[in-house]
Amino acid sequence: MEHDAVVVGGGPAGLCFAVLLAQAGLDVRVLEARTERTRHSRAIGIHPPGLRVLDRAGVAGALFEQGVRIREGVARSRASGRTREVARLCFDPPVLAVPQWAVEDALEARLAELAPGALRQGVRAVRAERKEDGAVVRCEGGARIGGRWLVAADGARSALRASLGVPVYGTSLKDAYLMGDFTDATEDGPRAVLHLEPGGIVESFPLPAGVRRWVLHLDAPAVDPSARDLARIVEERTGSRLDPATCTMLSAFTVTERLAARMRLGRVLLAGDAAHEVSPIGGQGMTLGWLDAEAFAPLVAAEVRVGSGGRPGSTWPELWGAAERERLGAARLAARQARLNMALGRGLPAGLMAARNAAFSALYRVPWLGERTAARFTMQS
Ligand SMILES: Cc1cc2nc3c(=O)[nH]c(=O)nc-3n(C[C@H](O)[C@H](O)[C@H](O)COP(=O)(O)OP(=O)(O)OC[C@H]3O[C@@H](n4cnc5c(N)ncnc54)[C@H](O)[C@@H]3O)c2cc1C
Repeated sequence: MEHDAVVVGGGPAGLCFAVLLAQAGLDVRVLEARTERTRHSRAIGIHPPGLRVLDRAGVAGALFEQGVRIREGVARSRASGRTREVARLCFDPPVLAVPQWAVEDALEARLAELAPGALRQGVRAVRAERKEDGAVVRCEGGARIGGRWLVAADGARSALRASLGVPVYGTSLKDAYLMGDFTDATEDGPRAVLHLEPGGIVESFPLPAGVRRWVLHLDAPAVDPSARDLARIVEERTGSRLDPATCTMLSAFTVTERLAARMRLGRVLLAGDAAHEVSPIGGQGMTLGWLDAEAFAPLVAAEVRVGSGGRPGSTWPELWGAAERERLGAARLAARQARLNMALGRGLPAGLMAARNAAFSALYRVPWLGERTAARFTMQS
């Protein structure tokens, strides 16, 4: 095997995994199909456990300089006829808002520092074959690259997962969303805001450089939507005015959940969305992938150090089993949380919505409930 570890996929999960392995002294190779990173950002929120992993990877400092610290989330509603605050949550430590591409840039730069040339772009893996001493990746064009370990971090539609025959349990959910980034003309500054409105939720989050991301729930997928459509719906539901001319990103999406039956087959690991795709509503997908890397990278490094003939100890299979169970359990929990968030975001007749919001308002006067909800939203419980 040419490398200690081959990572397929240079997204946030694969890059983070590779950085942690390179930091542990392993010879790593990352294969990424794209030749250029998309600036069309998906994830924007990094929860405190994700920041802990990025700190270990040596990139948290740079990201803190660029990002917006979200310390507070406010839920509002106009369902009762005038705008009322429903609840207010404190995030301590804060959530960091920074576009996914900026995080990927930082991880890529860190990898280049630790292992120059480790990232190979424009290489598409087609399938993986397990061997006694590791695994071999077959690539488009016929190249073959072997590693004592293989990490499949090739995203939700993972070709490697399919080639290895790992069963996946998934479902498509009925919720649809429209999302866009606009110049921030609100007075909400670094706050996350949820508008719980009869027509469906409108969420808004601060981004660096005076930009705000808007996400709104729709009953059916938007067909050929425009920035003007998004601005109109936001104004109808919340009264906030967005300038369509300032829109820098617009995306309509529906939601799929997929959970792999296993994350480890011998010396092959699945990580990130290849192992678990959860709804973006809740913003936990990217952090889940980093936590996979944090859980598995030390075990891979220990096994490589000990050598393929030996085992670092008799409890080794148990350690792997515990890590895999913990990661699959965390993915199930994130999926449940996201489903709850989506349910809360569906529209309701105004009277029902007002009554539900009044009940929330009363509940969230109990301080521990607010603390527990904030902890759950930010992956700290
Ligand atoms: C609209 C939206 C909003 C989101 N918001 C948030 C948020 O706020 N917070 C959050 O934590 N998460 C969020 N997510 C989820 C987050 O974007 C994903 O969980 C995250 O990108 C998964 O990272 P990954 O590295 O596992 O996979 P990906 O990001 O999909 O990366 C996989 C990489 O593998 C490469 N690849 C694929 N196939 C191959 C192949 N055969 N050979 C070589 N390379 C290959 C791809 O080019 C890609 O670079 C959001 C998702 C969406 C859709």
